[in-house]
Amino acid sequence: MPTLCALCRRRIPAEHIPDPQVVQEHHLWPERRAESPTVELCRPCHKQIHALFTNEELRETYHTVERLREADRLAEYLAWIRGTDKLDIDVQTSDHVRERR
Ligand SMILES: [Zn+2]
Ligand SMILES: [Zn+2]
Repeated sequence: MPTLCALCRRRIPAEHIPDPQVVQEHHLWPERRAESPTVELCRPCHKQIHALFTNEELRETYHTVERLREADRLAEYLAWIRGTDKLDIDVQTSDHVRERR
């Protein structure tokens, strides 16, 4: 079974699937991990989400993959990552998230 990233929908090559660093679980309800549904994301998408959204925003607005996929803030990133085979990227935490931590 190939693993697809739930957000960018890229296929994770089989040799990377066992690597917990490459395929990561994202808790859709960040502050309720025990009850939260999870999705499998590639590392770049997971980093990107947490760099762009605060836990509060994730909880209030972006608590489904569909919402995340439609987020304006992710559009440019998604268009870019889908054209690459990168499994690691450098991400800058946005000021917006940093200020609210
Ligand atoms: Zn992804
Ligand atoms: Zn997460």
